Amino acid sequence: MIFDIKKYAIHDGPGIRTTVFFKGCPLHCKWCHNPESIRTSPELGFRQSRCIGCGQCIEVCPDDAISVVDGVITTDSAKCTQCCKCVDACIPAAREIIGSERGINEIVDEIEKDIMFYDSSGGGVTISGGEPLAQPDVLCALLTECRDRGIHTTVDTTCYAKLDVVKRVRPLGDLFLCDVKHLDDKIHRKITGVSNELILSNIRWLDDSGADIIIRMPFVPGYNDSESNIKALGEFVSSLSSVLFIELLLYNSGGREKAKRLVKFVDIVRAKHAEDESVEAATRILESYGLEVKAGSYNE
Ligand code: SF4
Ligand code: SF4
Repeated sequence: MIFDIKKYAIHDGPGIRTTVFFKGCPLHCKWCHNPESIRTSPELGFRQSRCIGCGQCIEVCPDDAISVVDGVITTDSAKCTQCCKCVDACIPAAREIIGSERGINEIVDEIEKDIMFYDSSGGGVTISGGEPLAQPDVLCALLTECRDRGIHTTVDTTCYAKLDVVKRVRPLGDLFLCDVKHLDDKIHRKITGVSNELILSNIRWLDDSGADIIIRMPFVPGYNDSESNIKALGEFVSSLSSVLFIELLLYNSGGREKAKRLVKFVDIVRAKHAEDESVEAATRILESYGLEVKAGSYNE
């Protein structure tokens, strides 16, 4: 179950990459940058800006979920059963199905098309999401196929999965991008919906196994940018030995904009953008622990 394949990605590991986005995530971060990745099943999206008001969707909807309210095509999410019949009827593609089941061979064919770019740039494939570890059989099959073709593999993960799954995936990933959202478990639960204990212990296990790791922290003002959290991050990462560097992913409000396109509501907050000074201050704290720090952007 994936929701996108992005070509020529440059934010998801080294070189030029193809990023495959799995759909479904056990976390619900309040600022999520890819809210369309949270639910496991396909869902209906609507882009108001593309709608020409032809009314074809109203005609075909079996559940009378679509109507015109104040001159605007509106979908009643309580009535909509996500059958997606309106998608076929919408010529300007204002309505879309987000997420579909794709075969391993089909995905690999797509990845393989750009092998020339991977080779010339030191790139490869990145499996992201959502949470790739939530579909372990598919993930392992995909990584194996890429490895067999000599393609560098990166797994971009929340690390929220059973250790058995992490152990299965470990030998198939050349690089792991491990997200850390907050070091305080109580706050972590509040801002992501789950405990950070499993995440931190899985990162420790990956580190002990000698995996190449980049620790990524979404830097979200008001949520995890406090000095105490940055210090705790510095302490945690400096206790590991296989981390190449820390990347601070600077928050932008793209996730909230994308959430507006989902017919079924997903609550995404609008946080403030990080000031240069606070990013510099966080960088200095982390560097004081002897760590290399980079400011990065989200994959989209
Ligand atoms: S997806 Fe929802 S709005 Fe579209 S046709 Fe089906 S029930 Fe109606
Ligand atoms: S079919 Fe598409 S373009 Fe036509 S009214 Fe419905 S959403 Fe708008």
